Order: sequence, then structure tokens, then C-alpha cells
Amino acid sequence: MTSKLKKKTLICLVVLMLLLMHSSLHRKVSSQTKETTSSDPIEHIKVAVDPNMPPLQYVEGEDYLGFHIDILESVGDIYNIDISYVPMPVEKVVEAIEQKEVDAAIGINFLSELSENLIFTDSISTSSVGLIVENKHINSQEDVLELTDMVITLKRDSVEYQYLQNVRRVKYNTTSNIADAFQLLEQERGNALMGDRLVAQQLMEQYNLDNKYTFINSYIIPIEYAIVVGKDNYNLLTKFNDGIQQIKESGVYGEIYAHWFLDKELVAEKRLRQLLKVFIVFIMMAAILSIVGIRWNKQLKRQVDKKTQELQTMNENLAYQITETKNKNEMINQLLESSPRGLIIIEKNGIIASCNPTVVELIGLENNSTGRYYNEVPFIRQLLQEKIGDVIEKEVQFSGEEVNWQREDGKKYDIRYMVYPLRSYDRKVKGIIVSFEDITQEKKLREEWFEREKSRALNEIVAGISHEIRNPLTSIKTFVELLPKKFDNPQFRRDITTYVPKEVERVNQLIESLINYAKPRKPNKEIVDIKDLVEYNIRLFTPIIEQKGLKVTIDMEKNLKVNVDKAQMKQVMMNFFLNGIEAMEEIQQDRQLTLSIRGWRHQEHIYISIKDEGVGMTQKEIIHALNPFYTTKATGTGLGIPLSKQYIEDNDGQLTIESEKNVGTKLILRFEGRD
Ligand code: ADP
Ligand code: MG
Repeated sequence: MTSKLKKKTLICLVVLMLLLMHSSLHRKVSSQTKETTSSDPIEHIKVAVDPNMPPLQYVEGEDYLGFHIDILESVGDIYNIDISYVPMPVEKVVEAIEQKEVDAAIGINFLSELSENLIFTDSISTSSVGLIVENKHINSQEDVLELTDMVITLKRDSVEYQYLQNVRRVKYNTTSNIADAFQLLEQERGNALMGDRLVAQQLMEQYNLDNKYTFINSYIIPIEYAIVVGKDNYNLLTKFNDGIQQIKESGVYGEIYAHWFLDKELVAEKRLRQLLKVFIVFIMMAAILSIVGIRWNKQLKRQVDKKTQELQTMNENLAYQITETKNKNEMINQLLESSPRGLIIIEKNGIIASCNPTVVELIGLENNSTGRYYNEVPFIRQLLQEKIGDVIEKEVQFSGEEVNWQREDGKKYDIRYMVYPLRSYDRKVKGIIVSFEDITQEKKLREEWFEREKSRALNEIVAGISHEIRNPLTSIKTFVELLPKKFDNPQFRRDITTYVPKEVERVNQLIESLINYAKPRKPNKEIVDIKDLVEYNIRLFTPIIEQKGLKVTIDMEKNLKVNVDKAQMKQVMMNFFLNGIEAMEEIQQDRQLTLSIRGWRHQEHIYISIKDEGVGMTQKEIIHALNPFYTTKATGTGLGIPLSKQYIEDNDGQLTIESEKNVGTKLILRFEGRD
């Protein structure tokens, strides 16, 4: 907006300036306004003019100008006369007025022969005749100039013409006007010119003849100019004479005279002053423009400074961001380079994009695996198998997968790995990331710990069981001791044959389960009824449970057949029973706490729940408990739950843990049901 405004102001200023220049340069100095004193109707007259008499009367373009013209116009203004001019040489004037082609003629010398046919007004101007002579004819003494030696050019029907006719032996060439007389001079058809001083001077300057000709002052004849009208046109004559009289009296004549003859210097001064005005206007314009320019400039500079500042800040930010990004990239690179985990990035199309050094070290993968198709690299192929499609299309994430890998040199590795989608910043899947670790050592350690856990549980059980064995043994012993005494008692004999085998069987069972437990793990699936399994195993714990003042309830549906490894399941149950007992043991309560075991079938699945009323766990603790070696017990191993979970999963089952702090824990096992 502001720049538009400025533009407009500028345009206005320029237009103003041009107007000023125009008016000051082209204003006609002659066009002084005169007041019309008459209210007469407009009278139109035609006036003959010899236009070759500057500065008295002449033509510029279509305008008639000059001292005589201004006089006539002033007179015309008084009587409301509209004057049109007709160019005409003096010799035609008489006829033209008689023929009424024109009403008057202006700038005519008073000559007696003209006065026969025309009437002269009062004089409108006076001048004098002068002689112009070629420089070469001028001696040091002007006075001795001999007119008879020269050919003089001059205007016919003029005062000078009348004069020369009276000088004997003078040669001359006449023309109809003084301008033509100059032409003759130029054509060397004369070497002197006689005519009105004012006019001759003007024309000499006009024709650039100042250097070639000189005015001779000694030949001076006064001339009077007047306006002529027709013999009988007294009406116009009177108006002219009265008008001339009036303008002379009112001072208008003097002003016009001064303007044309005296004011030459004034005019020059006026011009100069006008030029000065224009110059000042120019200077002012320039000043205004430069002030506007400076302000503009300042504003622009301020804007530029502001923008520069903004740009600089942006640049700094950008530089900072670039450094940050570089740092981050470097950090990520270092992390990747130094990570003990192997990291492989595979593009969507299956091409290996990058591997970190761990991959190369650990797996002995060739360095140039990058750029190859993942299926061509056996290790990656084994890891991924069919997973790549699921990851890219369904965005599935695989974690905790384990695989055995044998290197080319025969070294065996246990590998745990994850496969998950690689996403761009807008969360679109760009490829996949395979991240893996060597768990060979961990696995070895884990197995060792499993063994320890086993023996720890065994110790617990043995303590309980010895008591359990002692009971049947005591009753058998009692029977045996009473045998000699009571052999003849039929009731005694019935009892001994009923109870002793039973007690023996009970001992046998206990021993058998101990042997089973101690047996090394050998995955050996068979169809079993989970009900039997639970009942069989809980028996091992009954003595401990009772000893600790706890209670067990078992509620199993019939026919809960599953395909599992008996020994592994036994281990699972024992771990969970033991955990439940230990959790309830920690609680000091008056009422008897119960370990409830339930079994049921739902659709294809068989469920077993083991619920205690022990200390319970928070959600966080549950997650911890799933990790190996997490324990809150002084003699704990932290392997019970992870080992059991693994066994369950090895048997195509699933484990869910629900627990609430200080309320209790419920473990739910789910297996595929069998008929
Ligand atoms: P351990 O029994 O040797 O500590 P586990 O893996 O069997 O190892 O259990 C890990 C931990 O989980 C236990 O130390 C205990 O803090 C918690 N935990 C396990 N079972 C229960 C339960 N039924 N109630 C409350 N906490 C339990
Ligand atoms: Mg345990």
C-alpha cells in the first residue's frame, strides 16, 4: 500500500513539474489581459498585415504577434471587435480595402499617394529608417560613405523608397517587404539595405547577418506607422483613433511598448527568473525525491536487516540441527557398531541393507553380505524362514525366537532373536530389522540352574516325604509286631490284609514319583488324564501342606486328556504348588488358607487353575517373575516359573498368571484337549 501511495505522489510531482515548466516557457508574454469596457455586440473585422516586420508585426505558427498586433488587439478589446488577420504586402492593400476584402491594414507608413484612397489613423508607433551596409564598404569614416557606390535593397511603398527616389544616381532593388530585401542581399543582388531600424535589426539577427553587415547611424529618417481603413469607413476610423487615444491615456500603450522595446532586458531577466523558478522546482523535486528515496531506503534497509537477522537465526538453527542430526547419527552408528547384539536391516524387497560388526564377528558372515538377497545367506534364511512376509505385510513382530546355528567351522551357537518392522518417520514399513544375541552361555547356565532348582525342590519334597513314608511304615510295623499275638483274630487278619498292602502301595507310589522327578528330562509325550496327574502329584505335597496348617481342595472334571510329557508336567505342578504354599506361608493369619486346584474342559481346550491365598504379586512383579533368576526368597533360584512356562509351551500349552497383592495368585494352564 505505502509503495503505491509513494508512486502516486511521485507521478503527481512529476506532472506538476512539467506543468510548471510548460506554463513558464510557453506563456505568451504578449497575452496581457485587457478589460473589455464595452458591451457592444461583437464586430468582426479583417485586417491586412505585412507579417515580415518583426518585432512590429509577424507570424509565429498561426499566431500574429508583435507590437502593432498588441496595440490593435487592445483597441479591439475596448470595442468588442474580433480581429482576423490577412497577410498582405503593402502594395495590395489599397485594392484589398477597396474591394472590401479587408476592413483595414496595419503597420502602414504615412505616404501621400496612399492617402488618396485610404484614411490613416493616428500613429500607432514611430521608428526610423536605417541603413545596413556590408562591412567591407565601411571606411573608418562613416560619413564619407557614398550611397552611389552601392546597390540598395528596400521595400516598395515605404518612407525609405520615397526618400531614395529623391536621391539621384542611386541604384536600388525594391521588394514587397523588408524580409525579401534581405533575401536580395543574400543573393548578392545588393550590398546595402534600407529599412525600419527595428525591423532590420531583428531580421539581421534572425538571419545571422550581424557579422557581415553594420548599421550606419548617419542616415536616419523618422517613420510613423498607422492603421488604414477605407475612404469612407469613418466608423472604424473613429473607433481606432478613440481606442488608440484610450490605451495611450490608460497606460496600456506604455505597457505594451515597454514589453516589446524596453523590457528586452526585463524579459530576459524574467525568463531568467522563470528558469530559476523551474530550477528551484527541480531542486525541490530532487530534494523531495531524495528524501522519499532515503526514507524508502531506510525502510528497505530495516526490512533487509530484519530479514537478514531472521535468516541468520534460521541458519544458526539449521546449523545446530545439522550438528544435532550428525551427533545423533554418530551416536546411533556407535551404538550399532559397538552393540553386542547382531543387527541386520533388510529392505522390503529382501535385499540386505546393512549389518553391524557383531553380525560379522559372531556368525562369520561374509562382509559382502550387504546388497545380497536374504535367502542367499544361510544364517539369515534360517532366522527368517517364512517370517519376512508377515512382518512386512501384517506388521507382525517376532520376539524371543530361538534357533541353533552351526558355523562353517563347526562351532555351535544358540541364538535368540527378534524380527520386527523397520519404519520410516511416518510409521510406514520400509523393511525389517533382525536383532539377535548369542545365548549359548546363558543357556548352559540356565540348564545348570534348572538342575539346582530341581534338587532344591527335591530336598523340600524329601523332607516332607520322609515323614509321609514313616507313617505307612509305622502302621506296617505295628501290624507286623501284633502279628504273633493276634494272628488268630479274624478281624486282625482282615485288617492286616487290607491295610498293609495299601500302605506298601502308598510308599511305593511316593518312591516312584521321586524317581520320576529325579529322572533327567526327556521330552516324551503321551496321552494322560490331567486329573490323575494333578492328584498324583499333590499327594507328594499333602504332608507339607498339612504340616504348615494349610488346606488343599481339588475340583477336577472327568476326562481331561492331554498330550504331554508326564515328567515335565510333574515338574510344573510341583513348582507351582510349592510357590503357592510358600506364598501362603508368608501370611500370618488365623483362618486356614487354601490352595485350590481346579480342572475343566472348554471347547477344544483343557484348563487347570492353581489358586493360592498368598502374598500375591503386582503386575510388575509378575513380569519379573517370568524372567529367570528373579526371586524374593532367601534360598530361591528364580527359575521355577520360567522353567515351568517353558515346559508348558514345549507341550503346546499356555500359561496365564493373575495375581493381586495381599489377595492371592491364580495360575491358569491351558492345553489342547484330546479325546
Ligand atoms: P523361586 O520360587 O525360586 O523364588 P520362582 O520362579 O518359582 O522362583 O518364583 C519367582 C518369584 O515369584 C518368587 O520368588 C516370588 O516372589 C514370586 N512368586 C512366585 N509364585 C508366587 C505366588 N504364587 N504368589 C506370590 N508370589 C509368587
Ligand atoms: Mg519357585
